Amino acid sequence: MNELKSMTLPELTESLWAMGEPAFRGKQVFTWLHKGIQSYDEMGNVPKGLREKLAEAYPLAVPKAVRKQVSRLDGTVKYLWELADGNCVESVLMRYRHGNTVCVSTQVGCRMGCAFCASTIAGKVRDLTPAEILDQVIFTQLDSGEAVSNIVLMGIGEPLDNLDAVLRFLELVNHPEGLNIGMRHISLSTCGLIPGIRRLGEAELQLTLSVSLHAPDSETRSKIMPVNRAYDVEELFDACHSYFQKTGRRISFEYAMINGVNDHDWQADLIAQKLRGMPSHVNLIPLNNVAESPLKPSKRLAAFQKRLESHGLTATVRRSLGGDIDASCGQLRRKALEEAQKGEDSQ
Ligand code: SAH
Repeated sequence: MNELKSMTLPELTESLWAMGEPAFRGKQVFTWLHKGIQSYDEMGNVPKGLREKLAEAYPLAVPKAVRKQVSRLDGTVKYLWELADGNCVESVLMRYRHGNTVCVSTQVGCRMGCAFCASTIAGKVRDLTPAEILDQVIFTQLDSGEAVSNIVLMGIGEPLDNLDAVLRFLELVNHPEGLNIGMRHISLSTCGLIPGIRRLGEAELQLTLSVSLHAPDSETRSKIMPVNRAYDVEELFDACHSYFQKTGRRISFEYAMINGVNDHDWQADLIAQKLRGMPSHVNLIPLNNVAESPLKPSKRLAAFQKRLESHGLTATVRRSLGGDIDASCGQLRRKALEEAQKGEDSQ
């Protein structure tokens, strides 16, 4: 691994040890990296000779905010970060009364193909490294000057399609010598990669698992989420029940309401039937219009919520933030890509 910031503290200590450094150096460097230094020269208590050796052996990459949009409606901030290789990903800072939440990306693009999602339109370019996921939190915090207390892995990409990096990121961001953000303040959202859900369950983390359900019946779900053809919703519900048995953690189900597709009462009834016996929370999301998609927002949010509640389920309607700044998944990156494309075409 030639990325110091992706290393756990023991790994970092060992790498420095191999360079002839004392054990305490690992902790010093770890702390600096997690503070978001732009250059190794900022590490005041680390000898100059070592700083130079590190710069040579492990070039330090920091993301550059190439675009930043601030919502006039609610102060939501959207960042488009350029990574060392020129690829871009998005993060969103959302301000709530209970603290600041940052939504981070886990991949450049996405290969899951959900019909309503802007992130997946051009497919997946590559996975992010643990450091690149972590940097989104560090640099959002630095840029905004405000502490981040919660993290949601709900940006571009499918976290369980890059699970090794994501698990490492979780360990890093949770570390007391780093940002020290508690697992209970972290949510991970998946479109339903069952082997990943199982692995995550084995890890018995205290984070909140969010499952992008979007339809409780195979037929509808396969139409809007190709992943359902590989991992059917029936198996997904089973995996969720097992996850709860293993971790004791309540699962959150995301449900983007699409007009005439998944907003029928019988679908609410089916959700209730499938979730019986499992503490859960259904989060109804007003569908964000994506220019490339024919799917339209449902007008039945309140009725659907009532129907779910009539079965004793907890259902909430997600408050939409940043409506004026392309704040939903992948929209800003798409816009930037399109503009770059137009620029090239006109040359
Ligand atoms: N790949 C992960 C996490 C990223 S998407 C997943 O699928 O869960 C975060 C959430 O936004 C998911 O629930 C996703 O289905 C939802 N989403 C994507 N596009 C949307 C849109 N146009 N309107 C509303 N929700 C959308």
